[in-house]
Amino acid sequence: MCLGVLDHLPVSQLRGVGPRLAAQLADYGVTHIEDLLFHLPLRYQDRTRISPIGALQEGSEATIEGEIRVADIAFGRRRSLVARIQDGSGTLTLRFFHFSAAQKNGLQPGTRLRCFGQVRRGSSGFEIFHPEYRALDEPLPMDETLTPIYPTTTGIGQNQWRKLCSQALLYLEKAQPADLLPTGHGIGFSLVAALHYLHAPPPDAPLAQLVAGEHPAQLRLALEELVAHNLSLLRLRARQQSVPAPSLPIHSAAGLQRALLNSLPFSPTGAQQRVIGEIATDLARPLPMLRLVQGDVGSGKTLVAACAALQAIASGYQVALMAPTEILAEQHRHNFSTWFEALDIELEWLSGRVKGKSRQAAIERIASGVAGLVIGTHALFQQDVVFNRLGLVIVDEQHKFGVHQRLALSQKALDQGRAHQLVLTATPIPRTLSMVAYADLDCSVIDELPPGRQPVTTVLVDSSRREQVVTRVADACARGRQAYWVCTLIEESDALQAQAAEATAEVLREALPDLRVGLVHGRLKPAEKAAVMAAFKAGELALLVATTVIEVGVDVPNASLMIIENPERLGLAQLHQLRGRVGRGGGASHCVLLYQTPLSHTGKQRLAAMRESNDGFYIAERDLELRGPGEVLGTRQTGLMTFRVAELPTHNHLLDQVQEIAAKLQQGDPRVVDELIQRWTGSRARFGDV
Ligand code: ADP
Ligand code: MG
Repeated sequence: MCLGVLDHLPVSQLRGVGPRLAAQLADYGVTHIEDLLFHLPLRYQDRTRISPIGALQEGSEATIEGEIRVADIAFGRRRSLVARIQDGSGTLTLRFFHFSAAQKNGLQPGTRLRCFGQVRRGSSGFEIFHPEYRALDEPLPMDETLTPIYPTTTGIGQNQWRKLCSQALLYLEKAQPADLLPTGHGIGFSLVAALHYLHAPPPDAPLAQLVAGEHPAQLRLALEELVAHNLSLLRLRARQQSVPAPSLPIHSAAGLQRALLNSLPFSPTGAQQRVIGEIATDLARPLPMLRLVQGDVGSGKTLVAACAALQAIASGYQVALMAPTEILAEQHRHNFSTWFEALDIELEWLSGRVKGKSRQAAIERIASGVAGLVIGTHALFQQDVVFNRLGLVIVDEQHKFGVHQRLALSQKALDQGRAHQLVLTATPIPRTLSMVAYADLDCSVIDELPPGRQPVTTVLVDSSRREQVVTRVADACARGRQAYWVCTLIEESDALQAQAAEATAEVLREALPDLRVGLVHGRLKPAEKAAVMAAFKAGELALLVATTVIEVGVDVPNASLMIIENPERLGLAQLHQLRGRVGRGGGASHCVLLYQTPLSHTGKQRLAAMRESNDGFYIAERDLELRGPGEVLGTRQTGLMTFRVAELPTHNHLLDQVQEIAAKLQQGDPRVVDELIQRWTGSRARFGDV
């Protein structure tokens, strides 16, 4: 079934593995022989053939053989030992910056050597720094396979990895485990053959294809890994839905929903209506809903959330609405208290800043069930927050929470009896990625903006033209428009961000003495923040200098110009969110990305994507291409999306097959599913155990 018995054989079975090495291997997650087999090389070296010096290419790694003609100490900027070596097709310099006396004596003219190293261009032809070399006293055999280079940091050297892995391959040969993937998917390699190939590729293996991750042996493993990952999410979903949730009938909320919609100055878009309907159907089922709503900035997700909340509240259940930042939670509190007050629904508020007596009172109102809707930050997670009848949990902007918080939330929903879960995100997740990362959720997309939204024209300006940008702000404000000036810092520290924003505000106040300039950052007290925002909204401030705290939830239609300083420091999703603060009124809006030179190649491409499009989905796809899935999902640190073999978007083309195969396997023997999940996610499958 599994890799024979290899998942039961500890690495200590292998020759040369004592307790010390075993402990070091464990740091790499390698405890069993099976783990070693999946510790795959990063790249390869070709030591299977000798290259003529005359045919070498700069940058390549090569084995050469030749005779030393001269050897001497060179006194340049750094003292070095140089040996000129010739093979009939050309001459090459070996250069050593560190060397021993014995080494120097060994490199006498007339000695024949075999050398390996990276070829670089020096002042007089090709050179190799610190080559590996051996004297050719007698003929040396060539390697029969390419040399694997394993991922390693400290402790374990390449030779050690090679020895261990070749021993593991022998065990693999003996065990000859059966394949877990169904046959007939156009995959030429069996699991055993693929592992064998990748640990010891033949001399004619296509190196470029291997480096690109596109070799059929790699595709075979990537496919299996993605299938395993998909299965683990499907299992998570199945477990979550294995217990009942309250069925919340649609009709009981009809009156409240009509009252809410009648109180609004607009009617919902077609897309909003569709998504509201999808959620309503889910909530009426006696199974926990697990739904992700994706909608671009300003697409009106809040109203969708409100309608869902009413369905739960109308049936006598409580709703928790959680936001990632205080400002956004505040914004929701403001919206919902206006909307729900008229409907006689009690609202409660809980954030990290609510302390002492008020916190106690809030907790009591939540526990007694008086509060129908509870809005807050992650403070809602805390142990002592106990709901009376929690029916629905809504998470806004879950992108920022990351998958782990989402799971912590499921746990909360579970602890409190089963609750339905609704996740809202303004960071569209590329379809490919959501298939992999969110296979446990159903997805709804609000693919339409309310009428009258203007696309924002985005320009890139380098920071040497900062003064022109300041003039542009002055012009816009003179015409009665308002502007944001956003300061970014890499540091996560609120204090440093606040300092930077303060300094910028000072400079701008001096440069623009006729304008009223406001300042908002994370260090202000909530009341101060609210006062500044209100003044800006009322038009009393023309220019608002801000940190990225304004990223979400701020709505000032008259603001039509945004300057973002050092946009190269931010992710595309974040830039898109920021930019979504303008273009909300009738007139044309602009966004100036004031970047710092020099900009890296990727940096240029990323900012160009912002100029090219206002479409969050397009931008998310570009972000995925340019930065990879870990960054896009914000889970880089958690390691959840780091695959061993699979790479996105390189292996995107496998994803349709992945779904097909996973669905097929789910119908079959559950032991095969367990085996696959265990093999590929190992201890990381913990998240599947929620
Ligand atoms: P987001 O999806 O970014 O959370 P919001 O829910 O904050 O968007 O909505 C953005 C703005 O659009 C709010 O001022 C909201 O009142 C308004 N809005 C929502 N739906 C509509 C609609 N159908 N027509 C017009 N305006 C709408
Ligand atoms: Mg929102």
